[in-house]
Amino acid sequence: MQARCFAERWPLRTAFAISRDVRTEAQLVVVEVRGEGVVGIGECTPYARYGESVASVMQQLRPLFAEVAAGLDRTLLQSRLPAGAARNALDCALADWEFKCRGAVFTGPESLPSMQTLVIDDPAAMAVAARNAIAQGADTLKLKLDDQQVYQRVAAVRAAVPAAQLVIDANEAWRADTLVDRCSQLEELGVAMLEQPLPAGDDEFLGTFPHPLPICADESCHSREDLPHLLGRYEILNIKLDKTGGITEARALAEEAEAQGFQLMLGCMLCTSRAIRAAWPLGERACFLDLDGPTWLAKDVEFPLRFGAGRVYWS
Ligand SMILES: [Mg+2]
Repeated sequence: MQARCFAERWPLRTAFAISRDVRTEAQLVVVEVRGEGVVGIGECTPYARYGESVASVMQQLRPLFAEVAAGLDRTLLQSRLPAGAARNALDCALADWEFKCRGAVFTGPESLPSMQTLVIDDPAAMAVAARNAIAQGADTLKLKLDDQQVYQRVAAVRAAVPAAQLVIDANEAWRADTLVDRCSQLEELGVAMLEQPLPAGDDEFLGTFPHPLPICADESCHSREDLPHLLGRYEILNIKLDKTGGITEARALAEEAEAQGFQLMLGCMLCTSRAIRAAWPLGERACFLDLDGPTWLAKDVEFPLRFGAGRVYWS
């Protein structure tokens, strides 16, 4: 078995603004494994928030390729790299290779629901974006917010799309002293769920008040190691393969989290359809799905997923 990795840049069709930065392209690392005439492919999106870059991820991966040649499998891989983007690309490449070697055929659901993300903008512009997304068939919208104009933005969107399911993602931008009041306001506006309001280091505060709406861990939840810290503080966990370090740990995390009473969200980074296909096996277990990463790209991979009317279609 031979393995290699390379970087790819995918321009976005429009800027992607969240609380911590604005991005204009997706920078990926792709791993390709080749053996017995079969090629397996996995991709990852290195994320600066977690100390990752394209260069650091390639540096993590390259020393492992000799071990892959010597028979490193997914089970052994779990202890050779920490949870994160590098392990994700290699784990998914190996899983893809195994699947193809078995001659297995796709038996998953033909489509999955997916929310549509609205990036940060002024309230009127977010209301217009919301109305457009609903007109195109979306039924759940995820609003990216920072610490400014929270009520104004959500109220404007709610007035524009009274029947839509709304999810808020603050990407760690809020503070504890305003959180309790904001949660009540969001509940009154009929928001279904709030994702990662506080910095990951401030999770403890979430255990100190009753939540009027469910709160979901994203930046605070990477792998099973985080579960003891999340219990009693979050109701929902956002599983992303770039955080778990691949589908192997993602399945294990999903299992263990459900056993502990958490609900699941399945999320993604800015990515191509390859990354969404890799996460597909977890789709039916999640109550919230945020799989619209590829819709932000100006151009997707060959054989892309199809997105439309609030769903994503395998073929
Ligand atoms: Mg998030």
